[in-house]
Amino acid sequence: MNCMRSTRVLGCRSMRMILVGPPGAGKGTQAARLIESFGIPHISSGDMLRAAVKEGTALGVEADRFMKAGKLVPDEVVIGMILERIARPDCAAGFMLDGFPRTRPQAEALDAAMRGAGVELDAVVLIEVPDALLEERAVGRRSDPETGAIYHLKYNPPPAEIVGRLVHRKDDTIEAVSTRIQKYHSETAPIIPFYLSKGILRRVDGVGDPDVITERIKAALNS
Ligand code: AMP
Repeated sequence: MNCMRSTRVLGCRSMRMILVGPPGAGKGTQAARLIESFGIPHISSGDMLRAAVKEGTALGVEADRFMKAGKLVPDEVVIGMILERIARPDCAAGFMLDGFPRTRPQAEALDAAMRGAGVELDAVVLIEVPDALLEERAVGRRSDPETGAIYHLKYNPPPAEIVGRLVHRKDDTIEAVSTRIQKYHSETAPIIPFYLSKGILRRVDGVGDPDVITERIKAALNS
C-alpha cells in the first residue's frame, strides 16, 4: 500500500521511508523526532555498523577500517545487513532508513528486495545543507551513549551534568568529515535522480532550528 498518495502521513497505516543527506545534515536528529510520530523502527546503517564494531563481530572488524577513514563500507556488507534487518517482523508496517542507501547499487538492491516482498517505498526525504556548514556541524557533534541523544557543543549544547559521558565519533574529525562529504557527492548524490524518477523524492531545507526542520519534513511528507 502506498499511503502517501491517499492518506495524510500521521494517519498512515504503513510508512516506508528513507532519509538522505550529507554527513552532518541532521538525519539522525530528525529520525529520532519523526519516529515518535510514525511509530516505525529507525534503522541507521551507521548505528548498526558502530554496534558491530563495538561488539567486535567479523562484520564490525571489516567495517571499522573504512569507517575510521570516512570511507564507505563495501556495498555487499551493508546491503546484506540492511536487507536482513528490514525483513524482521517489526518492519512489517514500515521503517525509516537513515544512511542507507548510500550508493546506486545499494538503492537498486533495496528496490529489488522490496519488489520481491511486494511492498513499495512511500518517500525519500533529502535533507539539503550547504557543504560550508557541514564540517562545523559534524566536528562539534557529541552523542549520549545512554540515551542516543545527539547534541552540538555550540548549536544544541548538552546539559552540564552529562557532558562527561558524551562521545565524539572517531569519524567526526575534520579529515574524515571532508572525505565523507566528498564521498556523499561522488557516491550518494547519484541515488537522487533514481528516486526523483520514481516521483517519491521530497527536498527539505536542512538549515535552521531542528524543530522547524521537523515541521518542514512532515509538511513535505504530506504534500
Ligand atoms: P553515518 O552514521 O550514517 O554517518 O555512517 C557512519 C559511517 O558508517 C560512514 O561514514 C560509512 O563509513 C559507514 N556507513 C554507514 N552507512 C553506510 C552505507 N549505507 N554504505 C556504506 N557505508 C556506510
